[in-house]
Amino acid sequence: MAIQVDVVTPEKMIFSGEVDMVTLPGTNGQMGILRGHAPLLSTLDIGEIVLHRREGNEYIAVSGGVVEVRPDKVTILADVAESSAEIDEQRAQAALERARKLLAENPPPQKVPEIMASLRRSTLRLKVARRHAGRRAAAVPHFEDEGENH
Ligand code: ATP
Repeated sequence: MAIQVDVVTPEKMIFSGEVDMVTLPGTNGQMGILRGHAPLLSTLDIGEIVLHRREGNEYIAVSGGVVEVRPDKVTILADVAESSAEIDEQRAQAALERARKLLAENPPPQKVPEIMASLRRSTLRLKVARRHAGRRAAAVPHFEDEGENH
């Protein structure tokens, strides 16, 4: 049985629909939620939301926020989130390189958490964007055998 999931940011609605299961990065660990789950509230870490659907999974990069779970509905209020299709890989790659460079330059200790968070966000975005690219590639039909029987 399906469960309704809404994923919103202060800027936009990222996803609203029914899924078989949703997995998300709770601050206390990865959570898998099916219909009928006990009600709970949790904060979110930097990580991947996976919307499991028979017709194909959807992937979302999320950076902080809160999730409210009810038996028939999951509401994710994300601080920042992007669906795999809207991630700009070049931008994420540039952010990753910037963060790596800053870390290599012996930053003051109070700057390290911020740089590490940027590193985690950009690494996550690259991973989630590549899932989308992978799905696109898988959807491309193969014509190698075309004409074999003629
Ligand atoms: P950057 O250093 O590239 O700006 P950031 O991690 O500092 O990245 P955030 O503060 O997390 O960026 O996000 C600012 C806004 O930009 C948010 O709306 C977020 O969804 C969007 N965003 C950030 N990086 C990307 C990306 N690679 N592709 C698409 N949208 C992005």
